[in-house]
Amino acid sequence: MPTYNRADLAFERGEGAWLWTTDGRRFLDFGSGIATTSIGHAHPHLVRTIAEQAAKVMHTSNLYRVPQAERLAQRLVDTSFADSVFFANSGAEANEGMIKAVRKYHAENGHPEKFHTICFEGAFHGRTLATLSATGNEKYLAGFGPPVQGFDHVPFGNMNAVRDAIGPQTAAIMIEPIQGEGGVRPADLRFLKELRAVCDEFGLLLALDEVQTGMGRSGKLWAHQWAGIEPDVMSSAKGIGGGFPLGAILAKEHVAKHLKPGTHGTTYGGNPLACAAGNAVLDVVLADGFLQQVDSTARYLWDSLNALVSRHPQVVTGVRGAGLLLGLQCVPEITNGDMQAAAVAEGLLTVAAGQNVLRVAPPLIITREHVDEAVAALDRAFTKAAAALREKAPAK
Ligand SMILES: *Cc1c(COP(=O)(O)O)cnc(C)c1O
Repeated sequence: MPTYNRADLAFERGEGAWLWTTDGRRFLDFGSGIATTSIGHAHPHLVRTIAEQAAKVMHTSNLYRVPQAERLAQRLVDTSFADSVFFANSGAEANEGMIKAVRKYHAENGHPEKFHTICFEGAFHGRTLATLSATGNEKYLAGFGPPVQGFDHVPFGNMNAVRDAIGPQTAAIMIEPIQGEGGVRPADLRFLKELRAVCDEFGLLLALDEVQTGMGRSGKLWAHQWAGIEPDVMSSAKGIGGGFPLGAILAKEHVAKHLKPGTHGTTYGGNPLACAAGNAVLDVVLADGFLQQVDSTARYLWDSLNALVSRHPQVVTGVRGAGLLLGLQCVPEITNGDMQAAAVAEGLLTVAAGQNVLRVAPPLIITREHVDEAVAALDRAFTKAAAALREKAPAK
């Protein structure tokens, strides 16, 4: 179906942060398949684990116990705020389940009228009908009939607007610690703390969408840890499978206990193969020193991109984001799509995001050498883009 505007690039092989096309060109992958190939391409431990698991048993269904899922869930519980985990296959599906979980919580506590979730302008929560409604983007909703009820949108970062939106029907506040698709906009850590406090004040659940920010991308295992808060429930996907489709809902007991048999489910979700992949990714991300390395490389990337921006004020005006999820703000005269294409021409893959931002989301395994190569490629791309701009609009 004509669903995507695909670039005319086809990759046949990857290794670490590098990808090779079928016609032999090499690219440095600072997009990670949209922040998903968290430990790079063809990571030997992930490859071996998947191959070994595939040779044993891939899928049995949730009619039976799944030891790989039990182990992965226990490890996620041990390293997070959560008491239990539900496995799904994607981010949208994890969010869909999270939305059901917050509604069920209030219904089971005698408040079925509390089914509204406060969401934020610029959010992205997925493409199913409910997650689209949570996303709230008019363009994405157009033509699909009435949105799912119960999502109230307020400006990102505006605490007064949040307070004003709380009513007798409010069940939860749902937010990405860093808006990814919406333009790599980090929430203020203080704002996240205030959301936690307002949820406690009004008996609401704090539901975090860490589909893009989780599994080490921020330099901590979960981005909300930077704010020193704990959500009641959280979704994860993208990076947790390292490229193998896997999503998860992590929840505290007071939320999780209401999702009894028959309330929610999936056929594939949490199957032996997906969870083996998830465990292999965790082996890497939880290894001694790995997250410190992510954090230190991220700071180096941050400094390098800021230096780059100061060299090219004609085409980029700033850096935003956190960890290895950063965005370069392009000037209005250049679209992020053109900028992305200019980077491709220099051998570098990035991803466009909202608000005319070029998103930089390399695999977590990158080194400073990769950063230097990427910045050199962007330097060349920006130089050419600036020259093209000058030609278009000669100095007055
Ligand atoms: C990508 C993304 C989703 C949707 O995930 P899919 O796996 O594409 O369904 C949801 N929330 C956030 C924050 C995302 O970045």
